[in-house]
Amino acid sequence: MSLIVQKFGGTSVKDISKIKRACLLISTEHKKGNQVVVIVSAMAGETTKLINLSKNFNYSKNLDEYDVIVSTGEQVSVGLVSMCLNGMGIKAQSLLGWQIPIICDDNHSKAKIIEINTNSILKILKNSAIPIIAGFQGISYTEKKIVTLGRGGSDTSAVAIAASMSADRCDIYTDVDGVYTSDPKIVPKAKKIDRISYEEMLEFASLGAKVLQTRSVEMAMRYNVEVQVLSSASGQPGTLVVKEEKDMEKALVSGITHSKEECNITLINLEDRPGIAAKIFTPLSDANINVDMIVQTGSESGNNINFTFTVSDSDLKLAVSLMNEHKNEIGFQRIITNDKLSKISIVGLGMRTHSGVAKKMFTTLASKNINIHVISTSEIKISVLINEEFTELAVKALHSVFELD
Ligand code: ASP
Ligand code: MG
Repeated sequence: MSLIVQKFGGTSVKDISKIKRACLLISTEHKKGNQVVVIVSAMAGETTKLINLSKNFNYSKNLDEYDVIVSTGEQVSVGLVSMCLNGMGIKAQSLLGWQIPIICDDNHSKAKIIEINTNSILKILKNSAIPIIAGFQGISYTEKKIVTLGRGGSDTSAVAIAASMSADRCDIYTDVDGVYTSDPKIVPKAKKIDRISYEEMLEFASLGAKVLQTRSVEMAMRYNVEVQVLSSASGQPGTLVVKEEKDMEKALVSGITHSKEECNITLINLEDRPGIAAKIFTPLSDANINVDMIVQTGSESGNNINFTFTVSDSDLKLAVSLMNEHKNEIGFQRIITNDKLSKISIVGLGMRTHSGVAKKMFTTLASKNINIHVISTSEIKISVLINEEFTELAVKALHSVFELD
């Protein structure tokens, strides 16, 4: 008997017919004789609706109440899924984050999981019933308030529960049948990847492939949880996210990702002195703003520099206001922003051992007359920032040059 965690995303519980379909997949797994633990997201669109409701008030100053509101989408869907299963003659019981409890830190709207007590889940399983757990939510450690885990957080709930119960697999049901070499909406020739390493998936997720929340991949890697991404419509085998395997090395580049949610901020004319980067990034980090690419360029005269960094579109306004707030301290003259940018990245384990990948990428972009603003690299990825209008052209060209078509 295996223990399988099944997670159904918003599109897989979007309406009553999708809920019935999800319950069929749950019952199939259950009938195989496996122990099944289910995590459910809010019905598609519900969380956004709830967020918009809270935006009628000053929600950023009331993040605890914001969490009370936006966590309710999951309460509805776990109730519906449990009712549906019970109607099919399969015992099921819903569990909310606080009931388990999923204990988190007090960081409202982006809380991190500290600990999961699995007794309540085990008790339901012992009763031969299926626990239907609300994703995305938990309870704060000190104040015992409801918290949420950030957009897409039910992936993290699912992997965390799989890890804490040493599940044999964590199946993430969604509306695509796996992870693709690129976004099939842009590259029709993109192919489904059968197996991908945690490392590559981590890059994919953080670079804009929206299949899994990045934190869920980090957690899967840390606790060695075998994750499968698959479609609830087809129920066919999807993409397995697993530990690096020997033959995985063969793929030089395993995928091309893009994100149009990039913008850059340039601080002009700063004094070149020790501590300047710390002065810039401390307020950003205190505000939980994720900074991605960073470039410092010297001026010809030698003493002054410009500093460019990128943040996501949603953080731009706050980042600029923080910079202006600390203008004197940082000592820049002007600030320039650009939100019409796109980050294109190539990812592959093979880059660790092969040279010439960067050259090939840059030559390809040059041949299409695409200008690169910023470059950043890691061991297994190269990212470039380009004008947003060239996104499609760049992704298609790279997909074909790296023989992924
Ligand atoms: N319902 C939440 C959201 O839309 C969490 C999730 O679906 O993963 O962000
Ligand atoms: Mg999701």
